[in-house]
Amino acid sequence: MSQTKYIFVTGGVTSSLGKGIIAASLAKLLQSQNFRVTIQKFDPYLNVDPGTLNPYEHGECYVTDDGAETDLDLGHYERFLNVKTSQANNVTTGRIYQSVIQKERKGEFLGKTVQVVPHITNEIKERILLLGNTEDYDIIITEIGGTVGDIESLPYIEAVRQLIYEQGENNAITIHLTLIPYLSAAGELKTKPTQHSVKTLMESGIKADVLVCRTEHELSDDLRKKLALFCNVKFEAVIQSIDVDTIYDVPLKMQDEGLDKVVIERLELLPKQKANLKQWNEFLTKYKNPKSKIRIGLVGKYVELQDSYKSIIESFIHAGATNEVEVEVVSIHSEFILEDENMNIFKDLDGVLVAPGFGERGIEGKIKAVEYVRVNKIPFFGICLGMQMAVIEYSRNILGLKDANSTEMTSNTSNPVIDLMETQKKIKNKGGTMRLGSWECSLTSDSLVRNIYKKTSINERHRHRYEFNEKYNSIMFSKTFKASGINPKTGLIEIVENQDHPWFVGVQFHPEYKSTVSEPHPLFVSFVAAALKYSKTK
Ligand code: GLN
Repeated sequence: MSQTKYIFVTGGVTSSLGKGIIAASLAKLLQSQNFRVTIQKFDPYLNVDPGTLNPYEHGECYVTDDGAETDLDLGHYERFLNVKTSQANNVTTGRIYQSVIQKERKGEFLGKTVQVVPHITNEIKERILLLGNTEDYDIIITEIGGTVGDIESLPYIEAVRQLIYEQGENNAITIHLTLIPYLSAAGELKTKPTQHSVKTLMESGIKADVLVCRTEHELSDDLRKKLALFCNVKFEAVIQSIDVDTIYDVPLKMQDEGLDKVVIERLELLPKQKANLKQWNEFLTKYKNPKSKIRIGLVGKYVELQDSYKSIIESFIHAGATNEVEVEVVSIHSEFILEDENMNIFKDLDGVLVAPGFGERGIEGKIKAVEYVRVNKIPFFGICLGMQMAVIEYSRNILGLKDANSTEMTSNTSNPVIDLMETQKKIKNKGGTMRLGSWECSLTSDSLVRNIYKKTSINERHRHRYEFNEKYNSIMFSKTFKASGINPKTGLIEIVENQDHPWFVGVQFHPEYKSTVSEPHPLFVSFVAAALKYSKTK
């Protein structure tokens, strides 16, 4: 059995420096040299998972095949590597404590006093080694959320220190990501915050092996020498991470800076093959050289925060590149379109996506958006709540069920076309209890989606409580609406399409979680193609 190598990514100076993108970029470079790599993220907050967090708090909640509700960085890992992540790839302090406390209740600590060191730190180490011990990977990259020096990340830093000691310094290294601020008044880049941050890390017994420095300006050799000397790292291990136009440029920038080379040498890995980034480069070339442009409206209620719909935005980038078209995503707050005069915003759009979401706020705006695009034959894509809104709009305006609604919004509606499944009705706890993860779906013949996927059966990821109410099966599909995706085991309707429309698809699942650079999602690719076609007819 070959030794698994461990790379820890810590952050210093400030948050939001993009540890996830650096970790994913390094992983991409290593993967392109034939190393088997996975990435894991530790989040130092007390929620057991981000599933109960409002998107305004922490951005989108990403869902894995095995139904874990995770940090959005896992989305970047999958999109960059095209490798599936799972529950093991995202762990929070809440989950660590929950597990230790459960063990304590079972008496597993045999009368010992349960403490942060060693019990919490041991649990953290176990979670890191869990991936290493699968023998599925040559390299595990573990991103430690938060900023070095935070009270809440201390147990993680201590666990990392112990692991480096136990695994040996040639098997486990630390990459420290920091900021080199530019003082415009002085016209200078400043290294002092980085020196302090490295020192803080050192106080906990961890030496930074590699420094990745976020900067708005090029780092001179003199500045790199200074950083190397005062932070105790090799000159080659001072890596510049300059601002770029797209996150998809970062792997190439890291390659230019030699990040992969430094890591391979430091971990004494035997090189396997030269980096093969052919497919990545082809994607970037198409992405950067679009032949035309379209505008897609994204109707949602968390639009103020870009990260709320991260996977949808990225899916449009992948699908845009495939179609060689620039996709401008126009954020539309669902409450904004409640006013009739604001409906003009739809006139300049080539397609509309109604986003996932929870709760009542903004849903009448979403329903109005669906009506507009249905009547005006503008390509429409409804995801999860977006699909549910399409069903409600059709029920009200075509089937004449005037008070049709979801029981999530109006529990006593006389036409609950969207309702809770029986199994959901008994559930009291909110965390981790939705219908989650990957479910099979059969595609019916003569449907648009069957044509798009070119398959009869698919697997897509879910995250919702409410469903299309099967009591409405016969009336709903008696006209132009077609149930084109059905769960083969439960009969639940997973996809609806309107056949009296060039492209009108609502899906109960979240296709955006599965779009990657090397495998753009077929529904997004087709939707963008339909919007492009529509733009030419306007
Ligand atoms: N709120 C809806 C439900 O729970 C939709 C969820 C979603 O859009 N992810 O079914």
